[in-house]
Amino acid sequence: MLTTTACPSTLKALIRTIPDFPKPGIQFRDITTLLESPSGWKQTIDSLANRYRGRGIQKLVAIESRGFALGGALAPHLGCGLVLARKKGKLPGKVVRQEYALEYGHDCIEIHTDAIRRGESCLIIDDLLATGGTCQATCSLVERMGGRVTSCAFVVNLPDLKGSQRLARYDLHWLVEFDGD
Ligand code: AMP
Repeated sequence: MLTTTACPSTLKALIRTIPDFPKPGIQFRDITTLLESPSGWKQTIDSLANRYRGRGIQKLVAIESRGFALGGALAPHLGCGLVLARKKGKLPGKVVRQEYALEYGHDCIEIHTDAIRRGESCLIIDDLLATGGTCQATCSLVERMGGRVTSCAFVVNLPDLKGSQRLARYDLHWLVEFDGD
C-alpha cells in the first residue's frame, strides 16, 4: 500500500531550472532531474495516486511528452485506462484536434476519437501548468468527446502565468510552485 506524502521542498529541489530555454527569457523547469531520483519520483507518483485513488477515474489523459511518464506510472495505481494527448500528426488513427497558444508559440493537440467514451470520468495529467493553454485545449477535446473532466493534475504550477485562473472551472492540483516566471 502506498502511504508516502510528497514533501514539496524535496521535490522542488529535484527540479532543475534551465534559463533561456527554448528561447530567451523562459525559465525552463526541467523534471528530467526528478525522474532520475528514485525516491523523488516515487514520492511524486505516490502523492498523486493517494490523492486520486478511489475517485472513480476511468481515463487518465496524459499530455505529450512529459505527461506520458507521469501517466504511465500513475494509471496502474488508479486502475484506469491511459489516453495519450499528442502533438499534431503523431497518432495513427482518426483524431479530434484542438489548436492552442503556448507560453512560447502555438501548437495543436490530438486524441484518438475512440479513446474516450461518453460520460467517462477523466483526469488530465501534465508535468507543468504555465498559461493553461495546453490543458485547456485537452479539456476541450475530452468534453467534445463526451468525457467529464474530473480534475487536472501537475507536478509544477507557475502562478505568475495564471493558468489556474484560466482553468478556474476545473478541479486543479499540483505538487510544487515556482514564483517569478
Ligand atoms: P501552458 O500551455 O502555457 O500551460 O504550457 C504547459 C506546457 O508547456 C506543458 O506541457 C509544459 O511541459 C510546457 N511548458 C511551458 N512552460 C514551461 C516552462 N517554463 N518550463 C517547462 N515546461 C514548460
